[in-house]
Formats: sequence, structure tokens, C-alpha cells
Amino acid sequence: MTTSAFPDGTILGYPRIGRRRELKRAVESFWAGSLTADELEQEAARLRSVTRERLAALGLGRTDSAIPESFSYYDQVLDAAITVGAVPTRFAGLTDERGGVDLGGYFTIARGAGDDAPLEMTKWFDSNYHYLVPEIAPDTAFSLHAERILAEFAEAKAAGFLTRPVIVGPVTFLLLAKAADGAPAGFEPIDRLADLVPVYVELLEQLAAAGAEWVQLDEPALVSESIDVARGRVIESVGVAYDALGAIEARPAIFVAAPYGSLDDALPALAATPVDAISLDLVRGALPEGIDAATAESLASKTLVAGVIDGHNIWRGDLDAAFEQVEAVQRLSASVAVATSTSLLHVPHDVDDETALDARLVSWLAFADQKVGQVAVLARGLVEGRAAIEGELAAASAALADRNDAPGVRVPSVRERLAALGEQDFTRADYDERVAAQAVLDLPALPTTTIGSFPQTSEIRRARARLVNGSLTSEDYTRLMREEIARVVELQEELGLDVLVHGEPERNDMVQYFAELLDGFAVTQHGWVQSYGSRCTRPSILWGDVSRPRPMTVEWSAFAQSITEKPMKGMLTGPVTILAWSFVRDDQPLGDTARQVALALRDEITDLEAAGIRVIQVDEPALRELLPLKLAAQPAYLDWSVGSFRLATGGATPATQVHTHLCYSEFGVVIDAIKNLDADVTSIEAARSRMEVVDDLETSGFDHGIGPGVYDIHSPRVPSTDEVQTLLERAAAAIPSARLWVNPDCGLKTRGYDETVESLRHIVEATRAVRAQLDAPVLAG
Ligand code: GLN
Ligand code: ZN
Repeated sequence: MTTSAFPDGTILGYPRIGRRRELKRAVESFWAGSLTADELEQEAARLRSVTRERLAALGLGRTDSAIPESFSYYDQVLDAAITVGAVPTRFAGLTDERGGVDLGGYFTIARGAGDDAPLEMTKWFDSNYHYLVPEIAPDTAFSLHAERILAEFAEAKAAGFLTRPVIVGPVTFLLLAKAADGAPAGFEPIDRLADLVPVYVELLEQLAAAGAEWVQLDEPALVSESIDVARGRVIESVGVAYDALGAIEARPAIFVAAPYGSLDDALPALAATPVDAISLDLVRGALPEGIDAATAESLASKTLVAGVIDGHNIWRGDLDAAFEQVEAVQRLSASVAVATSTSLLHVPHDVDDETALDARLVSWLAFADQKVGQVAVLARGLVEGRAAIEGELAAASAALADRNDAPGVRVPSVRERLAALGEQDFTRADYDERVAAQAVLDLPALPTTTIGSFPQTSEIRRARARLVNGSLTSEDYTRLMREEIARVVELQEELGLDVLVHGEPERNDMVQYFAELLDGFAVTQHGWVQSYGSRCTRPSILWGDVSRPRPMTVEWSAFAQSITEKPMKGMLTGPVTILAWSFVRDDQPLGDTARQVALALRDEITDLEAAGIRVIQVDEPALRELLPLKLAAQPAYLDWSVGSFRLATGGATPATQVHTHLCYSEFGVVIDAIKNLDADVTSIEAARSRMEVVDDLETSGFDHGIGPGVYDIHSPRVPSTDEVQTLLERAAAAIPSARLWVNPDCGLKTRGYDETVESLRHIVEATRAVRAQLDAPVLAG
């Protein structure tokens, strides 16, 4: 086969939700029945067309495979599962006689229907994107369903574009999959590689026949060391898959994209296969070092795609340094291209839409469209030489220097405070001393509580929208929120819960809530990024030194405490989670930034204590999320992340009960970190796994308060009292009753009131029943 040259500049993928979240709206209208499948298809085609034209206008080639076809209605891993016919058996009814599914079926697999649970969802590498986990059985019958991928390629071609189809590669697909229920012990989806590869062979043949010159196979799993398959098998799989795909006689050229880190030992394996181009993530990863002669020789014969523009973050960055990295890659191969380090899926569309942001801040930023422009600049430098882009490089350097010197970026008072910290600032009194001091809370055995938020009614949302658009005064807004808090407190009293919450009605997104109140953050108008499916978040921008101009939550919590005798739990978001769900400055270590946020929270805790709040929860649902993919980087991360939590909470008096909340139940590598948080009480998710986690916790030596969730808030289903009681008894069998708390899995924000009230009622009833058993002499003895 003859290979056409790889384009000089490209991106690994582009946001697909639409500049104004048009896809979200269309897909949700389809779900609601107000848009037909045809209308949805038309809207999607229009969005793809807008994207192609936009990318071409920004400098990517129209006819050289520079534009990736990275559209997805919901998720790229689900797309791959559908393309290879990996539909779980419970959805067999959705497939046609060839094993294909239509658009309605596709969404049903993503979202579930009745008793048929959707595919599980989990985090995509170290990003905030979530993908659907394919389920693979020993007998999953793979078959090719290339209609959609071929149609999108043809659609582009008809519009005068030669695009580059993108699909998750076979190794990553299986590494990210889980064994289907009922698979024999020891079965791993990667066992099926030899059966899956022929489907990819057929796909590549069909793409070649359709005229595709390059195809992009995404293999990010190759860079991750946090995958539950022996590394040796991963490396071996690379050869199995890509030798076979490379051997196809009539095929498009193969570009293997491996974002989110260095390929390390997977690079020699990949280099040894006949693939034509390989991406190197030079933002998270580094240039390959110490490569053997054979690998060097194979690399020299391939196109190396230098991922030098950060696809993860929104900073304009150091373009000059990026170009130097490109030049360094040129020493490895004569054929080099410039690219983003990852898909641009993780950044918003266009900074030019942010008309309300400070102009100086804007000049330091690059969203997806600006990053495409940067790729185009560097690609021009590659072809015409450095002199041709000197002006652009200088402008980027000037922006960087400006950012460095700008007021607010380095605030002396914040830095002095950090520099003065000592060991004692990270340590509270001994746990036993704290338990004794907290006895004044006078809680019953198995205290009941909730995780913080109560259902966000449409009235609450409307009030917030009206506050933002100016049609509600802040006095009226405060009054409405107080009324809501009073309702929530009264409800909890009536239900008989022990530690109450104010319900968080004043928060839409909790991280955004704190970002708006802290100095050093900015909030965008249109900076949406896809979180999963049609869900988007609008991360705040943490651009400068963080400090707290005034108390953030005290008024709400103090008001809530003033209307009840029961302890009211203050509710804060932890430093790691605030960082994880924001775009964070890239000019200093994350740990330094986290400590700044921690100090602001520490002051808030002092103020809450002064206002009479005796229980304070600091949520860290993202603690595991930021865990680096590379094992070697994990200890340092755990050190600063745990340290920042301890700094935030370390000033609390022994009598203040500090809680934390984590949104998951698989602890694995973070178990010691969770212990080291040294919170008095930790609530976790446990309902779906039927309390499996409690035994692990106990064997790990966890010996503080623990609240394993007894109510799965991800589903509208109301658990019966018996069901909750069974879960509680299971927990009580493993955890001494003095340390056991009773709570739902997570906040109740996304639930409706009816199901919430009923579920909480069952939780209280079940708790009373289990308490009675504890009191019974037989069991107590
Ligand atoms: N306190 C938050 C809530 O209840 C916690 C949310 C979370 O863990 N993601 O909504
Ligand atoms: Zn949670």
C-alpha cells in the first residue's frame, strides 16, 4: 500500500456538544419525545458540518486527513462497543437480525430502561469525562457495524472534506471493558483480543474502500499503569493487535493516538508493529528516553505526532517551549507532525465567547479553537521554519510574562502564610481525645445523617436564575433560600434524623459556589465541557493566589442551626475536589495551589465554629479522581492531597466533629490516604455493592467513624425498610456500633422530594430496628 503523508498539524479530537450545547438540547429533546430520530440526525449532521468548517477556517487542512471525525452522540467507548457488536445480552431485544442497534437502542444502552441497568459509567483516565464501560463475556459475538462511521466519513466527503475517522482501538477497548456478569472467575475481556481484531480488520478494509487515507485508533490505556491487567499482557496485546491491523493489504494508514501520558514500555512494542504514525503526549508525558537501537530505527520510519498543545487545560501556554519540543521530536524521525496532547473534548469551545471575563485574563487563555490555531501556527513553523512564526511565538511569550507579573497571580500575604506553616498545622488532637470531646454532641448509637444536599426543586433553580438575570433582589433571594432551609430542617426533624444539614439550596455546582466566593477564581459564561452523555459542567478558572475575602457559608449554616436543637452540619468542599473540578493554573505545583485553598477553608471552619457549628463536613469526592495514572507519581500526589485536607481541617478544635464524604466505594490504592485524612467520620458509597466494602475497610485497619451508604441515590428507586435494615445489619456485623453511621450514598440534589422523603423514612425506621437489636441483652452481650 502507498501511504499518503500525515498532515503537518492536527488535533486528536474536538468538543462535540456544540458551542451552545446544541447537541445536549437536541439529544434531550429526542429523549423527551419532542424531536424525531430523523430530526436529531439532521441536527447532528449540521453540528458536524459546522465543526469541519470551523476547523478548516482555523487552519486544519480540508483534504489531508487533518480533521478528525470525533463526533459522538453520547460516548466514544459506547460507539466502539456498538461498532464491534458488543451489546450486553440484556439488551439483545434492541438489536436487529445482524446485531446492530438504532439510535433509540443506542441511548437505551447508555441510560438503561426499566430493570435493565445501563452500562456502568466511569472516569476516562485522569480527565473529568466519564465513559460507558463495555461488558464482555467469553462468548460475546463480535460483528462489525460500521454504518455510522462510514456515513460520517461519506458525509464529510460529500462536503469536500477528507477527514480522519477516529475510533477507540481494540486494546484500549478491551482493557476498559469489564467481564460481563456470569463470566467465569479469572476471565478478562482482553482474553478476547484475537476474536475482536478481525472486526477491526474488516472496519479498516471498509474505510479504505470508502476512501479514507488515515484512521486514528485511540489507545490511551497503553499509557495508564492504573489498569487491572498485568502490564506484560498489555504490551503483548499491542503486538497482537497492530501486527494484524498493519498486515491488511488495502488499508488506510494507521495513526495510534496514546494521550494522557508517556507510552513508556508500550512504545517499543508499538514501534515494532507496522503502524504508520504514533502520538507522543509531551504535556503529561515526556520524550522517550533510553530507547534501544531497534526501536529508534522503527520510530525513525514512522510519523511522530508531537502532542505539545495541552488538550487538558485552558492556558495559552508556552508556545516557544512547545516548538522546541517539536524540534526535539524531529531528532527522532524525519516525519513529524504537531498536535494537541489529547482530544480537545476536555476544554470549552472558544474563549472569544467570554465577553464578560477580564480582558487581561482572556489574553492568557486558549480554549479549543485557540488551541487549534496554536497547532496551525506550530505546523507552519515546522514547514516554513521557526522564522516564519517568530511573531506568534513572541506574542505567546509576552502573554506568559504578563500573566506572571499580573496583580493577583502572586499575593504576598497568601505566600507568607503558606511559608510559615509547620507540622502542627496539619495535625489535630488524638482521635480518642476528640471522641471524648465530641461526646457533648450527645448522639444516639448509629447516628443518622445525610450527605448535604436536598432535592433542588424548580423553584430553587428559578430563584437562582432570576437572581443572575437581575429580576430578583439578593434580599429576596436570601429570603427564599432561608424559607427553603427552614423547610428542609423541619422535614429532617419530622423524619427523626440526628445530624441535620441545611440542604445546600444556595449551591448549583458546589465547586462553582466556592469559586465565586474566593479570590483567585474566575467563572466563564459559556465554558461548558462534556462530563458524560448530555451532561456538561462549567469548570471555574483558578488563575491566581487563592484567598477568602469573607465567610462563604457561615450565614446559611448559622441560620439553619438557629432553628434547630439538633447539631447542624456545616458543609464545605475540600481543596482536592475544588482543584479537580476547575481549570487550575499551570505555573506552580498543584500541591501549592491546594494548600492555598486549604487555608481559605481553614478560616471558614474557624468562623463556622465561632457561629456555633459543631459538626463540619469537608467533601472530597474527587480524591481518587486526581490520582495520577503512573504509579511512580502516586505517592507524591497522595501526600499533597491528604496534606491539603489536613491543613483545611487541622485548626478544628477537638470538640468539632469533622466529617468527609467520598463518592465511591472502591478504595484500593487510596485506602491509606483515606485513613490519613484523619476525619472523625467518613461517609462513602456502599448501597449498590451491598456493603461489600465494609470488610475491606475493617481489614485495612480503618478505625474512625464510617457511614457506608444505605440508599443508592443514583436511582429513583425507594429502598424498603427491610432492605435498608439488611444492609445495616451487614455493616454492623463488620463495624463496631460505636463507629457506625447511617446515611445515603451521596447528596440528594438530583432526586425528587417524594422518593427522598420515603427513602429517608425507611432509613430512620431501619436504624431504630437495628438499634433495638443492639440494646437487646443477647446481642449486646
Ligand atoms: N455535599 C454534597 C452534596 O450532598 C456532596 C456532593 C458529592 O459528593 N458529589 O451534594
Ligand atoms: Zn457523593
